[in-house]
Amino acid sequence: MMGQSVGGQDRLFYEFNLEDRIPTNHLLRRIDAVLDLSWLRDELAPSYSHTGCPSVDPELMIRMLLVGYCYSIRSERRLCQEVELNLAYRWFCRLGLEDHVPNHSTFSVNRHGRFRESDVFRKVFERIVGQCMNAGLVGGEGFAVDASVIEADASRFQRVKGNEVEWTEEQINSRPVREYLESLDSEPSPTSRARKPKAMSPVDPAAAWTARGRNKIMFAYSLNYLIDMEHAVIVDVEPTPTRITKEVDATEIMVERTEQCFNLTPDYLAGDVAYGTGEMLDWLVKRGIDPHIPVWDKGKRDDGTFSRKDFAYDKARDLYICPAGKILKTTGNLHADKTYRYFASKSDCDLCPLKPRCCAKTPSRKVPRTPNEEAREYTRSLMETEAYDRSRERRKKIERLFGEAKRNLSMTRLRLRGLTGAKDEFLLTATVQNLKRLIKFASIPPPRPMVA
Ligand code: SF4
Repeated sequence: MMGQSVGGQDRLFYEFNLEDRIPTNHLLRRIDAVLDLSWLRDELAPSYSHTGCPSVDPELMIRMLLVGYCYSIRSERRLCQEVELNLAYRWFCRLGLEDHVPNHSTFSVNRHGRFRESDVFRKVFERIVGQCMNAGLVGGEGFAVDASVIEADASRFQRVKGNEVEWTEEQINSRPVREYLESLDSEPSPTSRARKPKAMSPVDPAAAWTARGRNKIMFAYSLNYLIDMEHAVIVDVEPTPTRITKEVDATEIMVERTEQCFNLTPDYLAGDVAYGTGEMLDWLVKRGIDPHIPVWDKGKRDDGTFSRKDFAYDKARDLYICPAGKILKTTGNLHADKTYRYFASKSDCDLCPLKPRCCAKTPSRKVPRTPNEEAREYTRSLMETEAYDRSRERRKKIERLFGEAKRNLSMTRLRLRGLTGAKDEFLLTATVQNLKRLIKFASIPPPRPMVA
């Protein structure tokens, strides 16, 4: 017999409990079980006035934004509509059926005003990392660092050459341009002072013009993650314009901040060859962190002639000994490329039978050495170890996190402009990813719905 819906949408009284409608294994119910925002009101109290109209509840704002970044709803207008209509979203935001959802413009003003000034997204992120640590998900032994390119909200067809723009009054009043102009004199500056960019976006000047995107040249920011390799918990996140030097700088910022914030310093740090500069390796070694990073080696030769590693360095005498047993000395002058040069004697090389394999095209051999060479040699010695091979494998977890952010959370293109916009979006994305790790590994059983 064909059934027929009885309808009844015009009933006056309902027996309805929102709590009963949310399945026990629903993602938001499981996140709610581990999410504690009870500290938020006290933390934000200094940012609010004692007089005037009541603002949107800060906990409601954070819960709505977490819903948005969990389900790839990053448009504020759409997020407000979805929370209005979706029962699970309402339940997670602690709203009853008749409670009002904030208007999208009020939501936007609060998000980009008071919230940004009080750095609340970072505080929420750090609280969740603290919870991951308490749950035993952060080993603290090995960290990995990497960056992923995220397209900025700036058209690649509307760009100006170089970075010399005649800013209009209207442009200067926009937040991304104002922040960019203010940051030009600050340290670190968003642009390289040594090299002018090829192109600049007039709507988001801090974004970098880059060819590192997968399919096209575009304006972009880098999503920099520092993760603990035990359970792939993100211990810090930092936005930078997409430039390798900025990404290396961000690593230092993130390692230092993790140390200050969580008293956590890894035994070793894994990264790809982009992080293998002499300065970076030296910085890590001086802090007692083993760099599990391939060394960026300009002295290596692939044409069959002797590489720098074929010359033995004598630290006590500060000289190199070549494969023929002759010595190479330095004048002690640091050259423009930040290297010392060690020269063999022309008379030695002229008589040497190994000359064709050493310096066939020059009268004598010279070997460059950077001031950070000791750190590079130490890192090279680590590259022979089993621990290095193991962390090279484990480092791939960070790629999976970038994949998850892009594929599952739609973090392929930013909605907010400027470095602060990127910072807000990256912090919320990383918070959601950590919450997912927390509910997956912390084995907290989901609470049962209350029986009315
Ligand atoms: S060519 Fe000169 S530097 Fe090279 S191995 Fe011979 S003596 Fe040494």
